[in-house]
Amino acid sequence: MLNIICKHNCKDCYALRICAVQAIKDQQSSIYVETDDCIGCGACRRACVVFSYDQALKEKTVEWLKGAA
Ligand code: SF4
Ligand code: SF4
Repeated sequence: MLNIICKHNCKDCYALRICAVQAIKDQQSSIYVETDDCIGCGACRRACVVFSYDQALKEKTVEWLKGAA
């Protein structure tokens, strides 16, 4: 399932670039994660402050980032 993560859409999304399985997509000026492809490595959360510090996002992603904190 494609889940929206960020509407910032930085010029060069660090999270998108670091994802080894290309689960992070840039579509319609927003950043999405394809949860079926995500392996829960947590690299995106280390690469981007949005992934790391946004509490609402943290709660939203807990389910698919199993054990990746
Ligand atoms: S996920 Fe992070 S790096 Fe990517 S566009 Fe959003 S704020 Fe920028
Ligand atoms: S946790 Fe998932 S979306 Fe994030 S970098 Fe790892 S595989 Fe990609």
